[in-house]
Amino acid sequence: MWFWGGKTHQRYLGKLEDYKRLIAYFSMEIAVEGGIPTYSGGLGILAGDTIRSAADLRIPMVAVTLLHRKGYFFQRLGENGEQIEEPVEWSVDDFLEELPERVSVNVEGRSVLIRSWKYDVVGVSGFRVPVYFLDSDLPENSDWDRTLTHFLYGGDERYRLCQEVILGIGGVRMLRALGYRDIKRFHMNEGHSSLLVLELMDEEARKNKRGFILRRDAEVVREMCVFTTHTPVPAGHDKFPLELVKQVLGRQDVFEMEDIFFYEGLFNMTYIALRLSKYVNGVARRHSEVSKLLFDGYEIDAITNGVHATTWVSEPFSRLYDKYIPGWRLDNFNLRYAFSIPKGEIWQAHLEAKKRLIEYVNRETNAGLDLDVLTIGFARRATAYKRGDLIFTDIARLRGIHLNTGKLQFIFAGKAHPRDAGGKEIIRHIFRARNQLREEIKIVYLENYDMELARVIIPGVDVWLNTPKPPLEASGTSGMKAALNGVPSLSILDGWWIEGHIEGITGWSIGCDSKGNSDSLSDATELYNKLEKTVIPLFYNDRERFVDVMRYAIAINGSFFNTQRMIQQYVLRAYFD
Ligand SMILES: *Cc1c(COP(=O)(O)O)cnc(C)c1O
Repeated sequence: MWFWGGKTHQRYLGKLEDYKRLIAYFSMEIAVEGGIPTYSGGLGILAGDTIRSAADLRIPMVAVTLLHRKGYFFQRLGENGEQIEEPVEWSVDDFLEELPERVSVNVEGRSVLIRSWKYDVVGVSGFRVPVYFLDSDLPENSDWDRTLTHFLYGGDERYRLCQEVILGIGGVRMLRALGYRDIKRFHMNEGHSSLLVLELMDEEARKNKRGFILRRDAEVVREMCVFTTHTPVPAGHDKFPLELVKQVLGRQDVFEMEDIFFYEGLFNMTYIALRLSKYVNGVARRHSEVSKLLFDGYEIDAITNGVHATTWVSEPFSRLYDKYIPGWRLDNFNLRYAFSIPKGEIWQAHLEAKKRLIEYVNRETNAGLDLDVLTIGFARRATAYKRGDLIFTDIARLRGIHLNTGKLQFIFAGKAHPRDAGGKEIIRHIFRARNQLREEIKIVYLENYDMELARVIIPGVDVWLNTPKPPLEASGTSGMKAALNGVPSLSILDGWWIEGHIEGITGWSIGCDSKGNSDSLSDATELYNKLEKTVIPLFYNDRERFVDVMRYAIAINGSFFNTQRMIQQYVLRAYFD
C-alpha cells in the first residue's frame, strides 16, 4: 500500500499516532466549517459537532463523507417567497488537502476512481480528527461518474444509490488505502452509509481466502458496527428497487441474503444497518421509543443529541463564561455553574448578541428591526412537519397580541429541499403573512440559512420557537444552541425538548406531551395563549424573572445537551464496550 520513501510512507512515519484510529464515523453530510457547503441541515451539523467534540476529547476517530463539489444549493428567495436554487460555488483546495491515494468502486459495471481530500478538525488541546471527503470528479471517470460526488441529496434514486456505493464501499476502501487498519467500530450516522457492511463482509471473505461472502461474515461485521437512526419520517429512510440494485451493484450475492438486505421487497438501507449493527440508537428518548415501534423487534437505545459548545456559544457569552466558569471549554459540565454569573451580566451579553443580529438584519434587509422589541426566532429546514408557519395560523389573533399585550418581531430562515413542494409552500406562506402584517409586525425571512447565519441568528433572538408536529422531530438541536446562549425555547413537546423542558424554568412548552395526538389548530391556540399570558408579560414586565429563565437554560440545558456529553455516552455504550 505504501512504499519505502514514498509520500504516504513519510506521512505514516511522521504521524504514526494518526493511524491508530479505532472509530470510523461515516456520514453523507458533515459541516466542518462555514465555508464548506457540504451539508444541508441538522444531520450534517450534528456530524460536525460530533467530530469537533471527539477531537476535544481525544477520541481516536476518523471520519468519511462525500465532497459535494456543488454543495446542497444556494438559496435565493423571490418577492413572494418562491425559492430559487443555485449550485454552490466553492474552492475545494482553499479548504482541503488533496491526497494521492486512489481507490475504485464498481458502479453499473464501470470502475469509478475515487480520491479523497483531507480536513483536520482540531480539538481544544490540539488533537486532530481527520475528515476525508471522497471525490469522483477525476478525468479518468466518465462524465456522469464525475458528477456522482457533486450534489448533496440531488438527482434521482439511481444517482443516490451510486453515491451510497461511493460513501459506504469507497469509504472503507479509502480508509484502508490511507493505512487505517485498526478500526474497531464503524459508526453509520444515518443509513446512507450502510453499504459499508457489504465491503466489510467482502473483507472478511478475503481474509478467509474466499471469493464469496457467507452469512457468518455478517456476524463478524455486526460486532464492528454502530448505527444511529435520525428520523421517523419515511423520506429519511432510503430504499431502492431490486432492479436498480442489480444494475448498480452488479452482484447477485445480496439477493441470496434477503433477510439481511431486503425489507418488503426493497433494498432497505435502514434495515441493513439495523441488522448488521451491534449497537443501534435513536437521537432522543422519545425518538428511540418511536423507532422501536417503527422497527419492531430491534433493540434501539437512546443517546440524545447535543451541540458543540464552543462552536455555538456567541462571543459575548464566551467571554462571560471565561470570566466566571473558566474550564467550560475543556469540560462543558462546568456550565452547570452558570448560576454564579450575575444576572445583569447575562442580560448585557445577550443584548450584545442581539444588537449584532439586529444590525446584521437591518443592514441586509432594511427591515428596521428594533432592539427593544421581543424578538422571536425560527430557523431550520423548511419542511411540512416542522410547521414553520404555525405561528401564522390566525393572523388576527397574532396581530391582537402584538397590539394589546406586547410588541413582537420575527426572524425566519431555512431552505426547502428542491423537490419538497410542501416545504416551499411554507416559505411562501410566511411571506404572505409578512405582507398581511406589514403595517404592524416586522417579519424577516433571511435567505440561504447556513451554519454562519445560525451563529448570528440563534444567540441574538430573545426566544427560540419550535413547532414541529409530534412525534416527527427526532431530536432537534437548534434549541440546544439557543440554550447555550441563554435563549429560552418556546416549543412543542417533542424530541429533545421533552427532556430539556421545565415549565417556566428553562423555557415554555406548547401543548402537553400528547404522544402524537396534536392538531395544528389547537397547537396554534396553545402557542398564542402561552405568548399572551406568559412569555410576553415576563419579557416586558418582569425582566428579572426572564433572565432567571435564561440562566436556567444555560445551567440546566447548556451543561447537558452538548456533544461532549453525547460522545461520552457513545464511548460508554457503543464505542469501547
Ligand atoms: C442547527 C442547525 C439546523 C438544525 O436545526 P433544528 O432546529 O434542529 O432542525 C439546521 N440548519 C442549520 C444551519 C443549523 O445550524
